[in-house]
Amino acid sequence: MIKTPYYLIDKSKLLRNMEKIAYLREHSGARALLALKCFATWSVFDLMSQYMDGTTSSSLYEVKLGKRKFGGETHAYSVAYADDEIEEVLAHSDKIIFNSIGQLQRFADASANHVRGLRLNPQVSSSDWLIADPARPFSRLGEWDADKVEQVMPLISGFMIHNNCENSDFDLFDSMLQKIEERFGSLLERVQWVSLGGGIHFTGEGYPLDRLCARLKAFAERYGVQVYLEPGEAAITNSTTLEVTVLDTLYNGKQLAIVDSSIEAHMLDLLIYRQQARMEPCDGPHEYMVCGKSCLAGDIFGEFRFDRELKTGDRLSFIDAAGYTMVKKNWFNGVKMPSIAVRHLNGEVELVREFGYDDFESGLS
Ligand SMILES: *Cc1c(COP(=O)(O)O)cnc(C)c1O
Repeated sequence: MIKTPYYLIDKSKLLRNMEKIAYLREHSGARALLALKCFATWSVFDLMSQYMDGTTSSSLYEVKLGKRKFGGETHAYSVAYADDEIEEVLAHSDKIIFNSIGQLQRFADASANHVRGLRLNPQVSSSDWLIADPARPFSRLGEWDADKVEQVMPLISGFMIHNNCENSDFDLFDSMLQKIEERFGSLLERVQWVSLGGGIHFTGEGYPLDRLCARLKAFAERYGVQVYLEPGEAAITNSTTLEVTVLDTLYNGKQLAIVDSSIEAHMLDLLIYRQQARMEPCDGPHEYMVCGKSCLAGDIFGEFRFDRELKTGDRLSFIDAAGYTMVKKNWFNGVKMPSIAVRHLNGEVELVREFGYDDFESGLS
């Protein structure tokens, strides 16, 4: 048995998402690039790269990883490039997308022989959280003034727009795209490619995939552009679990169980977005608050019901632990970092990476 804690990526679950992505590409003509900021566990890129066109990135290191480990098309984007990284970014990408007109102009000479794009900010988004809202007031994410963008059109051949956030509502996507067309339509006609970013939850249960395909296809035809999508969460949703072991149980007005993991270190988004971890549904009679082993008082995975009493040594499994999870794991409290295991399509589980004390020590000096 593999020692906990570990993340377990199940390729057969990943495949369900990949097949929907393949369907979308075929029926819409759009290309799909994995957003590495959401998921960058390259052990499963062999499978994913058969179903997706390539990767998009948020930094030099991500673009380099995409080029080296995924292949295909490699889009470089960053909120801001530093002078000393631009050469390497260009060497590892086939398109570069600048976040601002200022950056585009600063690196105009350096990138003269590269395919270039600019991020637009349509000032509408589907985000429920201000911290994750690219269209928040005073947002630095992209240019919103069409007149200003007009002046740099000779420098670019495409746009990137990312304003969806786990949006499972097709009609909302549709109406926001309508607004984008109203605001930027005359510019869209003048480019060759448009990336509509990530955040569309089209691999989710019950999503009207055919309507999305038709909408993207009509958009591509209207403006004569190659459409790209940049799925992060949609590509890996429900593919991965975090496997943990109960280390102690106690009763302090509620039954508590402490496990060999921590939300701050291993599932940080639960803390940022104040959400509960998820387990396979169970409505047994034994209720526990499952807590992490860090010393943060609020290190709580959530309250769950079990069909048995929990005891030391029991294993628990949190579901949907791929997106924005492994990429954010950290050494807070020196908690042992989860290993990474992959369940292959033939059912065999392979331990692909373990972390030890030396990794902890070498991350600091
Ligand atoms: C975060 C991000 C994505 C991926 O978003 P998901 O919600 O994970 O699909 C894609 N493109 C850009 C520019 C992003 O910032």
